[in-house]
Parts: sequence; structure tokens; C-alpha cells
Amino acid sequence: MSTEIEQQIAELNGSDYIVRGTAANGMIRAFATITLHTVQEAHDRHHTSPVVTAALGRLLTVGAMMGSMLKDEGELMTLAIRGDGPIGGLTVTADSLGHVKGYAANPDVWIPLKSNGKLDVGGALGQGTLTVIQDQPWGEPYSSQLDLVTGEIGDDVAEYFVMSEQVPTSVGAGVLVDTDLNVRQAGGFIIQLLPGYDEAILPKLEESLSKITSVTDMLEAGLTPIGILEHALEGLDFKPMEVSPLKFYCNCTHERTQKVLITLGAEELQKLIDENKPVELVCNFCNNKYTFEVNEIKQLLKEAK
Ligand SMILES: [Zn+2]
Repeated sequence: MSTEIEQQIAELNGSDYIVRGTAANGMIRAFATITLHTVQEAHDRHHTSPVVTAALGRLLTVGAMMGSMLKDEGELMTLAIRGDGPIGGLTVTADSLGHVKGYAANPDVWIPLKSNGKLDVGGALGQGTLTVIQDQPWGEPYSSQLDLVTGEIGDDVAEYFVMSEQVPTSVGAGVLVDTDLNVRQAGGFIIQLLPGYDEAILPKLEESLSKITSVTDMLEAGLTPIGILEHALEGLDFKPMEVSPLKFYCNCTHERTQKVLITLGAEELQKLIDENKPVELVCNFCNNKYTFEVNEIKQLLKEAK
């Protein structure tokens, strides 16, 4: 392993990060990430129950890696799941700079564990759809929707890559919630076959992938993101190329929230003024609260007119 990458990881001082690399002479590209702090922050901000921590955490994990695939700073990747299960839906947005944020429609869901003792993410999401939206600052957003395969998220995102982008992909995402409801482990990987790959590498790849039990097992065994990819791509000469930091980050501000209020229009603002009490708005993504005093709403009314 290159000492430069080891050095970069050491400098991150235990914060979350994504590793990107290649294997099989560039025929495979691979990403792996540790998202412990990001998923913990999502839990802290949204007060998620364990199954929602796992569901949202897995989508944040995959979203962060897909964000890192974006080429330009202004681009955004949004993953939205809508399901008929008790969670209702999940929304995650990530950019290319390692900023990821997300929320669940219903953060407080309690359902029985699966027979294998794991949190029932698929059951909590139910039947539904995954929508992937790529926003580019210079044009129309690109959007693609497909039915959920299992609702376990890794499988669903793999299906997205196969169906929408025609890229054979393996996706793993895992979150282990501790008995105190805090996040004990969180991370994942995305492994893709690049166009023009030699089919001769498939048996080896299938064999190495088949040895993976789960992401949380690998994290519990102490594997780092590089270790996860070395394990998942055993015998295929994985080479880490790049490390980038990652964190839960929302770009909402008091000023941006003002703009939301202004879009209500003069009539609605006048009603709020007539009620003569402060208005509180909450950001869906990060749960930050913004309070507007009556005098400030009067000012916004002038701008709305
Ligand atoms: Zn926010």
C-alpha cells in the first residue's frame, strides 16, 4: 500500500473517509467508506430508532460514495426511496466534496427483528421505488427510477447501476446499532466492472465477493475501507488511489430559510404577521430550527410584494 495514502488516512484523525481505487489492471473500480460519525450524527439529529438508523445510514453510506463519483463541485446526487412500509421514505443528498445529508419520513419506527437477528430494513421500507437524481449546475437534472428489489438498499443501488447505467456493480452497506441505540459500525463498498473488462476475471471476482458475509462483519473484524476492498477483491490486485474525507453536512442557513418563507407569498406572510407570534421553520435534512420574529416577517412581506 502506498505510504502516501496511509499518511493521508492518518491525517484524517479518525474522521469518516472514502477510499477509491482500482483492481485487475484497471478493469475494476472500487470505493469503500467508513461512515460511523456521519451515521451517528444522522441518528443524533433525527432521533432515529435502530431500524431507521440502519436504513438511513446505509443510504447515507452509498450516497456518499456516489457523490464522490461526481466530477464537478456544483453537482449533487440525490437518492430518494419511497416505500409502503412504516418508514415511508428516505432522502439522501451528497456532493463531490464529501458532504452528505439525509432524513427519513418517519424516524421513529419499531418493528420486530428478522429471524437472523438483524434489523429488518427491507420490511421497514416495504415495496416501493428508488429514484436517483443527478443535479448539474449547467443543465437539466438527470433522473432515473426503479422498483426496490429487496429494500435492503445495497441490492437496490446495485440494480440501479445495472439497469440505468449498464455497469455490473456490487454494493454493500451496513450499519450496526449498539444496545444504547448509538452507531457501533457503519460503512460500505461499491465495486464496478468498467467497460471493456475481460470476462476471464469474472470467476475470480465472483469467488472473492462470495466470501463476504456482511459489511458489519468486516468492520467488526477491524477491517478499514482499504482492508474491505483487499478482502472483497482478493487475488485481483486492488490498488488504493485516493482518499477523501466525508461528513454529515447541511448547507441550510437563516438566510436560505428566509427565501423559503418569502415563497409562501404576501397573503400567507400577512396571516403569519396577524397571528403576532414568532414562526419556527425546521430543515428536513438536518433538523436545525430557524425562528423568525414578527418584525422580520414584516420585512420579508415587503420583499414578497
Ligand atoms: Zn439543514
